Amino acid sequence: MIDSYKHQGLRRQLVQLLKEKGIRDQRVLDAIGKIPRHYFMDSQFDKFAYQDMAFKIDAGQTISQPYTVARQTELLELEKGMKVLEIGTGSGYQTCVLLELGAKVFTIERQKILYEKAKLLLAKMNYQPKFFYGDGYAGLPAFAPFDRILVTCGAPHIPEKLIEQLKPGGIMVIPVGEGDTQVMKVIRKSLQGVLKIEDQGVFRFVPMLKNKSGM
Ligand code: SAH
Repeated sequence: MIDSYKHQGLRRQLVQLLKEKGIRDQRVLDAIGKIPRHYFMDSQFDKFAYQDMAFKIDAGQTISQPYTVARQTELLELEKGMKVLEIGTGSGYQTCVLLELGAKVFTIERQKILYEKAKLLLAKMNYQPKFFYGDGYAGLPAFAPFDRILVTCGAPHIPEKLIEQLKPGGIMVIPVGEGDTQVMKVIRKSLQGVLKIEDQGVFRFVPMLKNKSGM
């Protein structure tokens, strides 16, 4: 794994572009400026790593577009030390952004190959989230409640179990919609347990899929 001056230069340009597109949280911009996104893609696709686009990884899935990663992270209003549940580890890139912001991350992936690959890569990069191979619709009741929940695949509806696992005072960011595009929902649970839901624009994600048999 080589992070050349060329990669670093392209990464600085990507950060500049994300600023122009409206990302304001400096911690998010710093994380994107620091993490070599090309490590998360096959080396032959190196040159695409710092373009603001999603890209195919294994199992028919994608590494999310950098703008989407930045915007979702910004919407989480993360503070250091918070417990975050991430649904859809994928390449593990978003996981690293959350870790750079000081979160304790619990991440779930339903594709075995992606779970295995992300585990290996992040260990090499010295990032230490808790990895789970399983179904995001179920969340992680044994580790609940979570200060923040981030869903990185398009959900047909808001999963009830995830709402239950959100701490009072917590925030969940989830793209909801069954077609090609989803509406980004920011769900706030008050200390009394009342939900307030806000829409934050239209995005495009791979679908959040139901149980695989045997899970
Ligand atoms: N944050 C990732 C995005 C990956 S795409 C990245 O930046 O690379 C979304 C991921 O959600 C895919 O890897 C997909 O396999 C996973 N996924 C879809 N449905 C799921 C479910 N029910 N539970 C857990 N993961 C799921």
